[in-house]
Amino acid sequence: MPLKSLEEYEKLAKQAHGHLCAGQILGLRMALYGVRLLALDDPAGTDRKRLVTFVEIDRCMTDAIPVVTGCRLGKRALKFRDFGKVAATFCDLREGRAVRILARESARGRARELFPEIANRNQQQMCAYRQMPDGELFEIQWVRVDVPPEDLPGYRSERPVCAQCGEPVSFRREVLREGRTLCRACAGERYYTPV
Ligand SMILES: [Zn+2]
Ligand SMILES: [Zn+2]
Repeated sequence: MPLKSLEEYEKLAKQAHGHLCAGQILGLRMALYGVRLLALDDPAGTDRKRLVTFVEIDRCMTDAIPVVTGCRLGKRALKFRDFGKVAATFCDLREGRAVRILARESARGRARELFPEIANRNQQQMCAYRQMPDGELFEIQWVRVDVPPEDLPGYRSERPVCAQCGEPVSFRREVLREGRTLCRACAGERYYTPV
């Protein structure tokens, strides 16, 4: 399954996300740019074990990234870092190189310039984001990402049991506190309160 056209990806993104929106177009363009910069011809197929993607925001755009890259949370190939930035980093594990792509703030203004006749902002941005060159939409930065073995797809781990709650913990997410093995919740990171 080599790379498809943007139009074909839009259909798939609409199915996956529930609607088509400017965020989908932006996410598709970002992912396409990322895999092209890394020279991956078939990210969701033959190259699927080479790619890990970090996303920095949980918005519409995020749902479009796996459509192109095949990187999914459940495959451990999509990593969420909650930085609140419209950015993603595409890592080629085989070549050990990575590129971080950030959406330019100026892209929305450029969309207004290109399609002043379209009043609806979402429609305006969709039209613009389909045709704007990569350099107008994004800025890129080559980076190094050290992905530890326990974060990689396919990692086989022990599943120690938390000394406090008794729940098993995978992928070395356990923490050692005063000689006790605890899960992160019991170690103080609990985001929920039992009622
Ligand atoms: Zn959306
Ligand atoms: Zn626990």
